[in-house]
Order: sequence, then structure tokens, then C-alpha cells
Amino acid sequence: MRFADLAAVYERLEATPKRLEMRAILAELLRPLRGPELEEVVYLSQGVLRPEYEGVELGVADSLARRAVAAASGAEEAEVGRRTKASGDLGRTTEELLRGVRRLDATTPLEVRGVYAELRAIAGAQGEGSQEEKVRILTEMLRRASPLEARFLVRFVVGTLRVGVREMTILDALTVAFADGSKEARAKVEGAFNLSSDLGRVATAVAADGLDGLAGIGLEVGRPVRPMLAEREPTLAEVLARMDGTAAVEYKYDGLRVQAHLPVSGPPRLFSRRLEEIGAQFPDLLEALPRALRVRPAIVEGECVPIDPDTDEIQPFQEVAHRRGRKHDLDRVREEIPVSLFLFDVLLAGDTPTYGLDFPARRAKLEAIVRPSERIRLATQKVVTDAASATAFLDEAIAAGGEGLVAKSLAPGSSYRAGARGFWWIKYKRDYTTGLTDSIDGVVVGGFHGRGRRAGRFGAFLLAVYDPDRDRFPTFCKVGSGFDDAQLAEMPKRLAPFAADATPPGVETGVAPDAWFRPGLVLEIRGAELTLSPVHRAGLGAVREGAGFALRFPRFTGRFRDDKGPTDATTTGELLTMYRGQIRQEAPKGDEERPA
Ligand code: ATP
Repeated sequence: MRFADLAAVYERLEATPKRLEMRAILAELLRPLRGPELEEVVYLSQGVLRPEYEGVELGVADSLARRAVAAASGAEEAEVGRRTKASGDLGRTTEELLRGVRRLDATTPLEVRGVYAELRAIAGAQGEGSQEEKVRILTEMLRRASPLEARFLVRFVVGTLRVGVREMTILDALTVAFADGSKEARAKVEGAFNLSSDLGRVATAVAADGLDGLAGIGLEVGRPVRPMLAEREPTLAEVLARMDGTAAVEYKYDGLRVQAHLPVSGPPRLFSRRLEEIGAQFPDLLEALPRALRVRPAIVEGECVPIDPDTDEIQPFQEVAHRRGRKHDLDRVREEIPVSLFLFDVLLAGDTPTYGLDFPARRAKLEAIVRPSERIRLATQKVVTDAASATAFLDEAIAAGGEGLVAKSLAPGSSYRAGARGFWWIKYKRDYTTGLTDSIDGVVVGGFHGRGRRAGRFGAFLLAVYDPDRDRFPTFCKVGSGFDDAQLAEMPKRLAPFAADATPPGVETGVAPDAWFRPGLVLEIRGAELTLSPVHRAGLGAVREGAGFALRFPRFTGRFRDDKGPTDATTTGELLTMYRGQIRQEAPKGDEERPA
């Protein structure tokens, strides 16, 4: 396939906000493709070179990309910089600069497979001289590219290829292109993705043999499974009612979720909630896990929390955050802030996959294969049948340093639902019953210039939640409180990769910030209550026509949710649940705004 054809498709995708239309365009793109070419087109469209968990990075900073653009177009580097500042998009700037420049080798057009191979070469360039090598490869490709091809090539390289193709849309397109497009087919395709976390692999399998081809995609040690997630209910009585009166309740530990993969031999590999490999930060767990597990291979899941070595008490999450990304003095940190992993699930035990078993059988298996130790423990659990016992257990959990409970269904069908948020697990935080103190994870989509002490930098941010049904990011608040000086100072750097020159695709709001950002950075926010708003678009119309949800008195908790991507943010559906819970407590009768 010619790269020009792919660029033309990206241009069409960029022009439509409609998910159905996107699906059709993508299906048309993918249908004729097979094998490695299909795999590569799928990855490129996701904006990656390999499945995200492999962590293959191009390693091209904006400045390097500008150098290549300057070399290919003949413009000064400063000129490229100036124009990009004005346009907010190096891709567009490149396109403009290349218009009118004679292409070096216009007779041999760029092929997708060739471009992909060159991009892999850019990613692979390491060590001394690698920067020059990266610039050289990119420059040569740009010299051969048409202006439109160059726009998307450059955007891919600097990590801003947001043509609106998210995983869910690609799954839709695969179902239409290679199966009958039905709901059942979609569920099978998504199921294979949830187990493998690799869209390229799912695509080639379904393209080769239709839905039958997916049967071969199972668990593989070393390849993370997309995590099962929890729903919310406003009261423990409702939690129990949802679970037909009986549930296993477990402490909800407030730390980092870890999926541990233990191969038959060799060291374990640890993956975060976002499927990033994080083992290097936890040498103590790598050491302890093989001793704690009686069988291998195994895949187990748990929450990693810091423990005070003197008192054996659970410490605040922030202590683990210090470990993230820190390569030096790990040994010291490890002594000062040891961690324990509280295991709560098992997906593979020996050669038998266990994710398909109901929860009671999985828990029994977990207990059978784990030898608890100081570092590796089991999540504290109890089966309850009434709200009073659940409440007592909640008090225990809080006293032990937990942040609430996760209730788990024991019913038939309570298998491990990879990648799904459902009522098989329901989380409940203590403060939930006293107004809105459960936190919300919001995505930054805009910034407002600060005044007074904050003059010259951003003073507040526009936040959105995620609407998974429509793949949109509607806003729900503007937050300026809760940031300390250091956090405010680091915001521009954290936001720089997401800068946009206009309302980014997918963002919905009636508010006009001073700067726009593509959804990327997730912040944890608390607020007093959810109200209805004419300017915010989260849950628009869910309660009253023309009104969305807004958070009153929002406040940053100080916690950057680097473990979450934009689509892991709180959803509009969750806001609706919180809003309902609030009304139930504060205005139990006759409230007109109570949703149906
Ligand atoms: P939160 O922001 O509340 O941590 P989340 O969006 O990361 O939630 P949810 O599925 O909504 O994820 O809540 C469940 C999370 O709680 C899990 O991802 C896990 O990290 C954590 N957790 C702590 N203890 C448990 C437990 N015993 N069982 C399951 N999950 C637990």
C-alpha cells in the first residue's frame, strides 16, 4: 500500500467527528490488507509502532523533528520553530513548508511498509550518534514525501497523530471489515484484544480466518491482560442488592495496581494499570514473587502499597509514587519505603488459565498457590450478606489504611472480565455517603492564564471526563485550587506534548480557555458536589435537557494519575451514578431533578 493512500485516509478521518463514519472509513482501509502490512497499518493508526506494552519509543524530540523539517524544506530551523508556534502543529507547518519544494525522488513513491521499516530504524537508533541518525532517516523520508504525507509523518514522529482513531474505533472497524459487524462479533474481537492487548495481532488473526482465527489468541506470559475494572454504587446496601444479597468484600488498597507475570523460569515481569512495564522500580517484588508462588507459569494481580517497616502499617500512596521513574538510589528507597503486594486475583496458575473461572474458584486458587510473606500478601476478604456487616468491615478496612472496599460478585458468570468495567466488582469509598468526596479523575483539555501570584503561567485548567459510548471528552469543571507552586510550575512541561491550536478533536465544552490541550494528562480532583451547568457538557441531557454536570469547588488532590490514560478517566456514566447518590442522600423525596 502506498503511504499516500494512508495519508489520504487520515485526512478523511480527521475531517469527521462521527464515529460511524470513522468506522466505515477505517473498515474500507483495512479490508484489503493482510499479514504484516495490516499489522503495521493498525499500529500506525494507533500512533504507535508496536503494542503499547512493549514500550517501543521513537525517541525523537520536537527539536530533532524541527531539524529534519528544516533540512528537508530548506527553511531555517528558527523559521520552522516560529511558524510552528503560530500554527501549534509541526505537521501542518511541515506541509506548508514543503509545498512548492521539489521532491527529491517523486518517481518512487513511499510505501507503508517502507515507511514503517524506516520508523523502526529511527526507534532502534541508540547510543552515540543516534540523534544524527534519527534526523538523517527522517529527513530522507521527508524529502521523498508529498506535503500531505509529510504532515502525518511528522505528526506520527512527534507523537501527535490524533486522527481520532482510538482502540475502540479500530475494534469496530475490524468487526465490520472481517466479520459480520454484529454485536456478538464485536464482543469476540474485543475479547481477544482484552486478553492480548495487541490490536495488530487481533487484526491479522481475524483477517486471516474470521472470528475462528481469534480462538488462537489466549493468555501469554509476558503480555499484559487489560485489567478488569469496578463500577460504583452510592451505598453499601445498594452494593449488596446488586449482588443479590451476597458478596465477597475486600479491602480497597490505595496504591498501584500490578499485574505480575511469572514465566516458568527467569524473572517476573510487572505491568501497571496502563500496561507499562514497571518491574525495574520494584526489585523487592521481583525477588519476593517467585518465592511466594507455588506454581509457574502464573499471572496474578494485586495492589502494591508502601508499608512502614517499623510498624508494618500501610502508608499513603504518595510514597510509592516516589519510586516511579526513579532509577537511582532505588536501594535506599527500598529500605526506607518497602512495599507489599496485596494479591486479589489470579489469571493463570500453572498451565491452566483461571480467568474464566467464577470468582470463588479464583480466590480459592489464589489462596492455594500463594505462600504469604512480608512482601506478598493476600487481600483481606470476607463474605457478607448484610449491609451492617459490610459497614463494620469497611471501618476495619479504613482503620487498616485502606480507602474503602471492593465488593466482588460470587455469582455464576463472575469470571475475570478483562478490559471491562462492570457490576461484578463494585468499589465503595468511605466518604461516599457524606456528600461528594469520592475523587474524580479528570483530563486536562484547556488552560487559563493566571493572575496575581500566578501571572505569567497557567492559573487554572479545564477538565473533562470520558464518554466511552461516543468516544468524546466533555468538560465538567475548571480547577485552580489545590496546586502547590511546584505542581503549577511543572504543569506547562507536563502539558507541552498535548498542546493544540484549537478545540482538540473529541473535546466538548461551552467554555473558552486561553490554551487548548489534547486529552492526555489526568488529574485527581475532589469537589463539594455535582450540579447542573449550562456550559459544561459532561452527561449533557442526562438529567435535564441542555444541562451537563459541573463540579462545585473542585480541588486538585495533588495526585497526578500518571497510571491512567485519557480514556481511563472517570466516565460520564460514573458522574451520573455519583449525582444520583448525592440526591438520594440529600433530597430523598420529590426531587425533580432525580434522573429516571
Ligand atoms: P481508583 O481511581 O478508585 O483507584 P480505578 O479507576 O483505578 O479506581 P477501578 O476499577 O475503578 O480502578 O477501581 C478498582 C481499583 O482499585 C483497581 O484498579 C485496583 O487498582 C484497586 N484495588 C485496590 N484493592 C483492590 C481489591 N481488593 N480488588 C480489586 N481492586 C483493588
